[in-house]
Amino acid sequence: MPESPYSSTPRVLGVAVPSPLRRLFDYRPCREAPSGGWQPGLRVRVPFGRREVVGVVVECRDGSALPLSDLRPVASCLDAAPLPADWLWLCRFAARYYQHALGDTLHQAMPGLLRQGRALEARTRERWSVTAAGHRETPSSLGRAPRQAELLAMLRQHPHGLVSQAILAQSFSRDQLRALAGKGLVARHEEPLAASPAAEGEARLAEPALPLNREQASALAAIHERLDGFHPCLLHGVTGSGKTEVYLQLIEAVIARRRQALVLVPEIGLTPQTLARFRRRFRAPVVALHSGLTDHERLDAWEAAASGRAPIVLGTRSAIFTPLAHPGVIIVDEEHDGSYKQQDGLRYHARDLAVARAHHHRIPLLLGSATPSLESLQRALHGDYRHLRLTRRASRQAPARLELVDLRGRRRQGGLIPPVIETVRETLAAGHQVLVFINRRGFAPTLACHACGWMAECDHCDARMTLHRQPPLLACHHCDRRRALPDACPDCGSVDLRPLGSGTERIEETLASLFPEVAVHRIDRDSTRRRDALEQMLTEVRRGEPCLLVGTQMLAKGHHLPHVTLVVVVNADAGLYASDFRALEHSAQLLEQVAGRAGRAAHPGQVLVQTLHTDDPHLRLLAERGYDALAGQLLEERRAARLPPFRFLALLRLEAPREAAVVTLGGLAAEALRQRISERGLAVDCLGPVPAPMERRQNRYHLQLMLAADRRSQLHEAGAWLVAWLEACPDARRVRWSLDIDPQTLA
Ligand code: ADP
Ligand code: ZN
Ligand code: ZN
Repeated sequence: MPESPYSSTPRVLGVAVPSPLRRLFDYRPCREAPSGGWQPGLRVRVPFGRREVVGVVVECRDGSALPLSDLRPVASCLDAAPLPADWLWLCRFAARYYQHALGDTLHQAMPGLLRQGRALEARTRERWSVTAAGHRETPSSLGRAPRQAELLAMLRQHPHGLVSQAILAQSFSRDQLRALAGKGLVARHEEPLAASPAAEGEARLAEPALPLNREQASALAAIHERLDGFHPCLLHGVTGSGKTEVYLQLIEAVIARRRQALVLVPEIGLTPQTLARFRRRFRAPVVALHSGLTDHERLDAWEAAASGRAPIVLGTRSAIFTPLAHPGVIIVDEEHDGSYKQQDGLRYHARDLAVARAHHHRIPLLLGSATPSLESLQRALHGDYRHLRLTRRASRQAPARLELVDLRGRRRQGGLIPPVIETVRETLAAGHQVLVFINRRGFAPTLACHACGWMAECDHCDARMTLHRQPPLLACHHCDRRRALPDACPDCGSVDLRPLGSGTERIEETLASLFPEVAVHRIDRDSTRRRDALEQMLTEVRRGEPCLLVGTQMLAKGHHLPHVTLVVVVNADAGLYASDFRALEHSAQLLEQVAGRAGRAAHPGQVLVQTLHTDDPHLRLLAERGYDALAGQLLEERRAARLPPFRFLALLRLEAPREAAVVTLGGLAAEALRQRISERGLAVDCLGPVPAPMERRQNRYHLQLMLAADRRSQLHEAGAWLVAWLEACPDARRVRWSLDIDPQTLA
């Protein structure tokens, strides 16, 4: 083998390539070494099979399991400097923790343009400002160029200069700018497009902070006490108790120390109002990372965070992978929210990664919620997290209690019973707004034949098709299949087909006919497909005219609706008797969040909860004593049933078009795993395989195998072994499988 011409060059690069395989691929370095030498974190273009892909160098070493002469060289190195070390650390941690391929993890965790091989650099814009000579210049000397004189006069009024776009927007031209620059009167600077540094000497705050109430002040002081070091806190405060104000003041303290704040919000929570609230408060740039960005904007934001230029980074789930040059705090708002868990590919939980990341950086972590997850609550009660309580609303308005309304034996009109309709009428008459919550979109959950009992079912799933009226069709909410409405029953030919149950569209229709004089706004995934549709509706609602809002959980979370005084929950029963052990927790959180929409401003709120189970002990506990009491009870039940957070779970999901393929593989995997567990003496239970709750979905069969253990290390050992076994198993090639560590749902 020829000697490497570069003495400092490692002989082998272990490269993570975008592939589901859980291993590195070895390459030889290319001749052209990067200027800083070979190191982990550099992106390289490498031949992979018959393609060339972008991978990341993870290891530099001198040996390989393969003969060095068999290794192919990398085609080129794409970076002068490695990608940020904190990002690489987090990706490696996530890949290990979630038993996922590192190559795929890195790939998913980097902006699209970096995946394609673009350089990690900021786009820039030009800023023009007046030079000292320009300030001395007398206007008359530009007498023969009156537009140049006007331009110079205009720029003189802007001590920090103006960007080209703003100048051109005032009908000046590039030629005029160049002419002034040629005379040395103005100068041009390049500045990054995202988060360009605020001009020197400006105040940090654009808007004064609110004076905190006692609870807020002591919560802030508790975090403030230790801004250095890992310091996890649960900010457990009722809706409207001013958690966001605590975040804002904490961020202020962090950026005053020239550190960065990373703030995660749920998907539904990153509204223009949230962003506006942050941007209003700080003069420092707030960079937002969410699914609506273009590839260029995402890269700009990433670069601004990685370079340290962006002091405040606000984003949804995937923003946890944003590199930070000077991390100072991580805040996770609504930490219980389900959108923090990614349900495919790398199945990570952003809140849990936030904990790991804050620990790694030795910085404070603030998890905020009115309805904390049982995981976080247990840690707070146990003393692993500092438990900070905010028990009162900042507005002094007491949170509304839930009133249970018995549905049994009552005639319903569009899902609502007469006394509830009467209360709606009174509320509207008093000039207030009403929110009707139902967690089902469409017109009705299904279409049924009144003669024979046939119901519209999806051909591809074990599920009924939802009836929609706008436009009229049947749709499966699990696989998105659509079908035209049948004229007659396909089984018996009867034309007596009727909608069964209620969804948002049906309630909207009923309310519109009952209350023709007020506007009815329906807010669900269908009505808000058009961009800005939600914002437009909410703007209208915030004007305060009496109106009715009908919506799914889209409406239940986050939005400040000051004029709503009555909330109606059409049916609270879905989560009460579900097979999923987290269903009750999630539905209690949702009910409490919905209830939190009532009476946020000047008027007290009322929450009516329709149910067939007014005697259900959990529902009663929630209604009478609130979420915290119910959560305490649920924790005791989980402890007794040996379920999370007292035990750790991993769920192997298997799916394939052919049932036999999944059943065979599931059986083999369970058998092999049980044997391994007993050989190693692990205290891990292997439960199943069992069919998934919806066995057939999208015309594929779904099977599951559950692993449960008291000790995380043992669960991980078993999981890692199982994954390796599956990768090597020939029967697994025809089956799609994934291991979900800490699954949030068993579906
Ligand atoms: P949360 O995030 O807990 O739901 P917010 O921070 O949004 O609560 O606060 C709810 C409302 O109370 C907001 O309108 C906010 O401006 C106001 N608020 C918060 N803290 C204070 C305070 N200390 N004094 C006066 N108003 C406050
Ligand atoms: Zn029929
Ligand atoms: Zn379907």
